[in-house]
Amino acid sequence: MEVISVSDGNLVLPGAMFFDGLPQDELDSILTPLNISRAQVEPPCNVTLLRHEDRVVLFDAGSGDGFMPSAGALIDSLDAVGVAPDDITHLVFTHGHPDHLWGVLDDFDDPVFTNAEHMMGQTEWDYWTNPNTVNTIGDVRASFAVGAARRLEAVEDRMSFFSDGDEVLPGIMAHATFGHTPGHTSFEVRSGTDALLVGGDAIGNHHIAFARPDWASGADQDPDLGAVTRARLLDKLSQEKITLLGFHLPDGGVGRVERKDSGYRFVSENM
Ligand SMILES: [Zn+2]
Repeated sequence: MEVISVSDGNLVLPGAMFFDGLPQDELDSILTPLNISRAQVEPPCNVTLLRHEDRVVLFDAGSGDGFMPSAGALIDSLDAVGVAPDDITHLVFTHGHPDHLWGVLDDFDDPVFTNAEHMMGQTEWDYWTNPNTVNTIGDVRASFAVGAARRLEAVEDRMSFFSDGDEVLPGIMAHATFGHTPGHTSFEVRSGTDALLVGGDAIGNHHIAFARPDWASGADQDPDLGAVTRARLLDKLSQEKITLLGFHLPDGGVGRVERKDSGYRFVSENM
């Protein structure tokens, strides 16, 4: 198995989305050493590419052109490692947020990954294709619901579905990490004694998510469940010494999780 982190660019988000309502003194002590601005965060977007036997597997489709000018670089990044969209055999989604899903269609609303079987957790699919989701998700994310439903409808005939614990593809196990979205899934990839977790957004940043995993995050649709999931995952990754590839973590997103004080820290491997 070969795993490569390919960049889709980065997001530009208001710091308030992450930092409002948190204990401000402790927040400063976490952010200042890491040089993180409170006003604005610019998380990178790391898409996981996996080659195994005759399969070329992509985890998430990136943002495409329609979400943010700073994102949508995936096709160029794939090209740089010699992979064309047609080469992808399986497109496996962690969840249905714009920076993970909207890249499935091009500017003409045609599928980008024409030869790929598209795969999503059944719970996540049911949520975004439920016509009532736009009414329950809240004003801030209403456009996410509309955008996801339209794109999923366009690729419905390419879709297959999985549940928690399923072997999605040989050596790749679905691991339910609900909270960031109702059906968010991470993937445990195993080859011999090597293990890697394609984490998606279950551990969504390298600062407060590691230092204070128990703090509710405004980035999670269910902040309380997101915090429980994050704590469980960080414990597992540090105990079992599993490498993490996080979608929004720095330096390509690959690294290990170490205990630090009462929390954790991310030690990037700098791929
Ligand atoms: Zn994301």
